[in-house]
Amino acid sequence: MYTTQMDAAKHGIITNEMRSVAEYEDIPVEKLSSLIAEGKVVIPANKNHKCLKPYGIGNSLKTKINVNLGTSKDCLNLDIEMKKVMAAVNMGAESIMDLSSFGDTKKFRRKLTAECPAIIGTVPIYDAVVYYNKALKKITSKEWIDIVRMHAEDGVDFMTIHCGINRSTAKAFKQSKRHTNIVSRGGSIIFAWMELTGNENPFYEHFDEILDICREYDVTLSLGDACRPGSIADSGDVSQISELVELGRLTMRAWEKDVQVIIEGPGHMPLNEIKSNMELQQTICKGAPFYVLGPLVTDIAPGYDHITAAIGGAVAATYGASFLCYVTPAEHLRLPTLDDVKDGIIASKIAAHAADIAKGIPHAKDWDYDMSQSRRELDWDKQFDLAIDSEKARRYRAESKPEKEDTCTMCGKMCAVRNINKILRGEDVDIMD
Ligand code: SF4
Repeated sequence: MYTTQMDAAKHGIITNEMRSVAEYEDIPVEKLSSLIAEGKVVIPANKNHKCLKPYGIGNSLKTKINVNLGTSKDCLNLDIEMKKVMAAVNMGAESIMDLSSFGDTKKFRRKLTAECPAIIGTVPIYDAVVYYNKALKKITSKEWIDIVRMHAEDGVDFMTIHCGINRSTAKAFKQSKRHTNIVSRGGSIIFAWMELTGNENPFYEHFDEILDICREYDVTLSLGDACRPGSIADSGDVSQISELVELGRLTMRAWEKDVQVIIEGPGHMPLNEIKSNMELQQTICKGAPFYVLGPLVTDIAPGYDHITAAIGGAVAATYGASFLCYVTPAEHLRLPTLDDVKDGIIASKIAAHAADIAKGIPHAKDWDYDMSQSRRELDWDKQFDLAIDSEKARRYRAESKPEKEDTCTMCGKMCAVRNINKILRGEDVDIMD
């Protein structure tokens, strides 16, 4: 028997989850197993999440995306939120993070792990604040850790734990005078708790206890980046790098107990800094999968941050990130609507696919080959079927009908594709008649 996927891999045991992932990724299961043993791939798979379709996360595999959802004060209906979750899964999200911040969060979390096949992640810090419903400084160290145990029992596959911001990194943060301070929600809560109580970060102080819980249920630790840059001005600063070094140390401790680990990353970051940042993370955290929140390559585009994040995400995944957290057009502005969620997912899926092509994932280009072939053949139905957003592609053409069916309204009878096909078939070309 084994405890975690990493424990199994270290002992040469091939699990059902490994077989399923190897088949999906089209790689030998023995190769996958050795990557898991080294910590370079994780399969988040809590033993209590019985309906899970397992996915592997690691930079030698297809890039995966996460979608953040969950109940809030303005959206408390569990069935509506569950519909959003299943819509996200149908659009290709491999992972859902339940960031519920109001109401009966346990009920929704259990509904997710009972009904949703995607990888389920949570941030226990958010939930602790809702669950205990008392002044922040009154929450005890034990109570923070109890929430981690509760989420593990509920079947959560991975948890963001903000354990990198300990007294030492908090001191570096206070001394460095950042442009945008701390923008991580969980990071801001635990930093405030540390300042209010004078205590060490409980997730850092009791890290071994957290590892024991993760080992028991096979929860993958997502080491949170409380000090991720919230503006390009803070990118790569002392706070970000001090925390990353701490996360590297904690990764080694987790691996000693066979606990699977992913590392969370930036944040806001200029395009030219992304490659070196991904390489630095790979070095410091010994190749542990990198989970990036963006990176947003500029700060000036509220309303379009799915685009700023997709640009950064494509570059980050090309150079080492394995897991992209989606960003919607509502980022920095409001709770996303269903349309915002859809736009965010499509943008992240494009970034992930673009990176998979760039890093040479086997067969990643096949989809593009088929699409370009259907374009050459002016086979509109096939183009719609292959489109990453079939509904939008179909709607756009329907809303702008051309005079000739074998053209579109962009160039009409000057359609290069149509005219070259005609010439190559030995036919005349009718542009002006
Ligand atoms: S009309 Fe122009 S844009 Fe439209 S399919 Fe032909 S070449 Fe492409």
